[in-house]
Amino acid sequence: MIKCSAGTAKVLGLKELKSDALPTTAYLMTGERCSNDCSFCPQAKYSGARADLLSRVTWPEYAREAVLDGVARAFEANSIKRSCFQVTNSKHALQETKVFLQDLQSKSPVPICVSCSVGTVQAVSELINQGADHVSIALDAACERIFVENKAGSWSQKYRLLQESAKEFPGRIATHLIVGLGETEEEMLRTVQEMVDLGVTIALFALTPIKGTRLEHGKPPAIDQYRRIQAARYLIQKGLDRFEKMCFEGGKLVRLGLSEEEWVNALADGEAFRTSGCPDCNRPYYNEKPGGLIYNYPKPLTLEQREQALRELNLGGLTGSVQIPD
Ligand code: SF4
Repeated sequence: MIKCSAGTAKVLGLKELKSDALPTTAYLMTGERCSNDCSFCPQAKYSGARADLLSRVTWPEYAREAVLDGVARAFEANSIKRSCFQVTNSKHALQETKVFLQDLQSKSPVPICVSCSVGTVQAVSELINQGADHVSIALDAACERIFVENKAGSWSQKYRLLQESAKEFPGRIATHLIVGLGETEEEMLRTVQEMVDLGVTIALFALTPIKGTRLEHGKPPAIDQYRRIQAARYLIQKGLDRFEKMCFEGGKLVRLGLSEEEWVNALADGEAFRTSGCPDCNRPYYNEKPGGLIYNYPKPLTLEQREQALRELNLGGLTGSVQIPD
C-alpha cells in the first residue's frame, strides 16, 4: 500500500475531490510513525495526531499497483510533471525507497524526488544511482538553536551531509525550511543564502500547528514575516540580492539590498510568492485552508494577489511610482 495526498489521489483518478488547485507533482508516502520525532510533524513517533496526516493534508492509502499505474497515466497525460516520494524514517526506509524507485521507473519516465532520512553521502548516492532526480535532506530548522528544540539528531551532521551531497551531486539536492519555529528572519535568511551558495534547492514551508503534535498550540508565522522570507529567498536564488547586503533590526528584515524600485519590479510577477522547491512542486493547501490565508500560492497569482503580496511584505510598500504589469 502507498499513501497519496488527497489532491494527488484526485489527479491519479483514485478519489473524487473538489479543488480549485490540483497538484502538479504526485505526492506519495510510505512508512509508519517516523523515528525522527519532529515537534511539528503528525507522523512523528510520539505524536498523537491522526496517522493519515502530513502537515494539514490527508493521505489516504491505496494499492501500490493502482498508485504506480495512476502516476504513469497522469504523467503521460501531462497532468503531473514529477513525483515526490516521502518516506518516514525506519530501519528499512532506504531499501524500501530503492525498491519504489525501481518499480516506478519500470512504468514511467516521470522525474522522482525522494524525501527520506538519509545519513550518509553513500545513501544519497545510492538513491541518485537508482534514478532519483532530487534527494531532499530536510533541515526544517533555520539554525542549530531551533533544530535542537524541534528535531532529533545533530544539526552539524545534517548540515555537513547537505554540504557534501551538494558538492558531490550539484543541482540534485533539496532541503525544506519551516518559517515560524521561533527563528529570526536573519537566522532564516543566513541559512537560505548558505543553501543557495551550495546549490541546494529550497522549499519554504509555514509552520502549520496540527492537533496531537508537540507544536499543536504553536502559531503559524505572521504573513508579513513569511512574505519577506519568500521575497528574499527568491531574490537570493535569482542572484539579484545577497544576505550580506540586507539590513536587519532585532533579527527582522528591514531593508533589502536593492532599491525599492528594483525589488518591486523584480517581485511584481508574483513568482516569489508561489510554492518553492523542486521544479513543478506546488503542494496545494499544504500550509493553508482553502479560502484562507495563502502562504504558498500553488498557481500563478492574479493581479490583485500580486498587489496584496507586495503590500504584505511591509517593507515600505509601493510608492505609486512603480506599475505592476498585468
Ligand atoms: S520540494 Fe516538493 S518535490 Fe521536492 S522534495 Fe520537497 S515536497 Fe518533494
